[in-house]
Amino acid sequence: MTDTPSLLLYRPAWCIEKRRTALRAWGDCVGTVSLGVIIMRLSGKVALVTGAASGIGHAIAKRYLEADGRVVIADLDAAKAAQAAKELGDKKSAVGIRMDVSNEAEVNAGVDQAAAAFGTIDILVSNAGIQIVHPIEEFPFADWKKLLAIHLDGAFLTTKACVKYMYKQNWGALIYMGSVHSHEASPLKSAYVAAKHGILGLARTMAKEGAKHNVRANVICPGFVMTPLVQKQIPEQAKELGITEERVIKEVMLGDTVDKEFTMVEDIAEVALTLAAFKTNALTGESIIVSHGWHMN
Ligand code: NAD
Repeated sequence: MTDTPSLLLYRPAWCIEKRRTALRAWGDCVGTVSLGVIIMRLSGKVALVTGAASGIGHAIAKRYLEADGRVVIADLDAAKAAQAAKELGDKKSAVGIRMDVSNEAEVNAGVDQAAAAFGTIDILVSNAGIQIVHPIEEFPFADWKKLLAIHLDGAFLTTKACVKYMYKQNWGALIYMGSVHSHEASPLKSAYVAAKHGILGLARTMAKEGAKHNVRANVICPGFVMTPLVQKQIPEQAKELGITEERVIKEVMLGDTVDKEFTMVEDIAEVALTLAAFKTNALTGESIIVSHGWHMN
């Protein structure tokens, strides 16, 4: 799948020339246009992807590099971030840095370090996240604060640090990792659902504040994706709900999908590429749900 073109937009022959002209004007993110097929490219654009040492963030970093972007892999786990950068790119295209997204000084230093390495920041993918499940009456306040700090403080701090560069160059794309839980609720996930709903508010505000600087903001809302974050939840939910792990997967996680399938990290990476390379600001302030039909807006 990753060897195939990232996004194929089929066009009738009569509009290919018109499309070519528009793409020439678009410039930076221009893709290959052949027989009406457009391949989205990032053409050297610099993306900071948080939580990219693992799971969804790692797949996005990989996809951006395949699309000729340059990537800063920012993660709490410095060794894994460095390893991912080495494995996915070379010194000119990928760098791994340690960043605790909930720590203002670390975020500011990391963003400045990334911009110094690659010249600027064009794209932010605010993706780092954790999951903690408990019924509300047993939810430790410290866990509530920890989860909100990583998801919400992290999104706020990285946005604030990156728009400094985006506003200066009058271009940028802010991409936030929401969830179906930005639109739905599930038992045991009060902190996560609250945080993911909050991300929508931040993104919509940034779509409005960023508009005059040519900066757009969007949210990706995945359904269940089999990553370490979800693997960890399966036994936890089985214990809390008193059911088998198999039932957690079939009934709790995939029960409302149209085909009982997990979303893949590659599915999310394709949407992240589309949002980064989309040629106009028509697509801003939106949340795109990628969930095998679990939630339909
Ligand atoms: P993951 O556990 O595979 O990866 C999360 C990464 O974030 C890890 O590399 C971890 O080290 C990093 N991280 C954790 N705390 C951090 C911090 N304070 N600062 C910087 N990095 C930190 O998880 P994933 O499934 O890839 O999740 C990525 C994002 O996608 C999260 O925001 C999550 O809420 C969201 N999401 C995941 C799913 C899913 O089913 N996996 C569904 C919807 C949304």
